[in-house]
Amino acid sequence: MFATKLTSILFVTTVFLSVVHAAPWIHERDEAQHDPSHFEYSGPYGPPFWGSVVIPGKTNQCSNGTQQSPIDLEDNLLKHSYLEFVLGTSTSGLAVVYNGHTLQVELEDPEKSKYQLKAYDNVYNLQQYHVHTPSGELHYTIRVLEGLEISVSNFCFQKKKNEPKLAMVAFTEHRYHGQYHDLGLHFVWKSDKGDFAVTGVFFDKSETGSELLDTSFVSPKPTTKDVKIPLQYGNPSLIKNFFENYTHSFSDYFSYDGSLTTPPCSEGIKWHVYKEVLPISLAQHKAINDIIHYNARDTQLYGLNTNNIAHVCGH
Ligand SMILES: [Zn+2]
Repeated sequence: MFATKLTSILFVTTVFLSVVHAAPWIHERDEAQHDPSHFEYSGPYGPPFWGSVVIPGKTNQCSNGTQQSPIDLEDNLLKHSYLEFVLGTSTSGLAVVYNGHTLQVELEDPEKSKYQLKAYDNVYNLQQYHVHTPSGELHYTIRVLEGLEISVSNFCFQKKKNEPKLAMVAFTEHRYHGQYHDLGLHFVWKSDKGDFAVTGVFFDKSETGSELLDTSFVSPKPTTKDVKIPLQYGNPSLIKNFFENYTHSFSDYFSYDGSLTTPPCSEGIKWHVYKEVLPISLAQHKAINDIIHYNARDTQLYGLNTNNIAHVCGH
């Protein structure tokens, strides 16, 4: 299977050779030195190879699942209602950590979180929230076989095998009608039964900023990997305020059954992605992006397992 994937990558790379660097990293993967749980967002440990990542105790579904996330959201997934949150004042401490992949705010004791989501006859407790950004820095012009020319500003894309045109370009992380956004915020919730739900919020660069993003990811400056920094916000209602301030914005959301967007890409995740896009200031976006860089999985073709997809990534 691995050899087949490499063949696909080489084929597609050849197709786009005139504009995309010829994947020099293909020969750089060092299996002898390799930590089996290690993954990255590009290169020899990037998304095309996530199917071989080993997360102890978990089944990896990155390359053979059929409900993989993120996706390009469609109108038929849109719900017009309010998700029911029970938002108390938390007695659990919050700490932010850069884990090598994202900036993540974790609840020290999720049992005391007092932040609950009620959906699908389940009650979910907030576990953590984290961010995704695209690089937004690289610009390629890609000439496709038919002569169609598309300009994209990222370096990973994928196509369905034997279809000589681009299918998707990778961005943060869900999209709507092909539109990407400058940052994605994911709240991860877990029920007593062990089921997971994620609520996603889009942000675009703006003149105004976000208090939640600033207090969670910018002011603490969590630049050292795996070092947790307690949030010194002095406001135990930080998350409550966020949801309540934007209540009016959160009536429309996309709902579907998907997966984690990092290995092991476990399926059975109840996704809710709000349609409303919130503002993030340029300074806030830069501060976050400077730490996490590009950390968005490429768009998945829902219902197809990724063995059917050939990926191409630049450097
Ligand atoms: Zn996420």
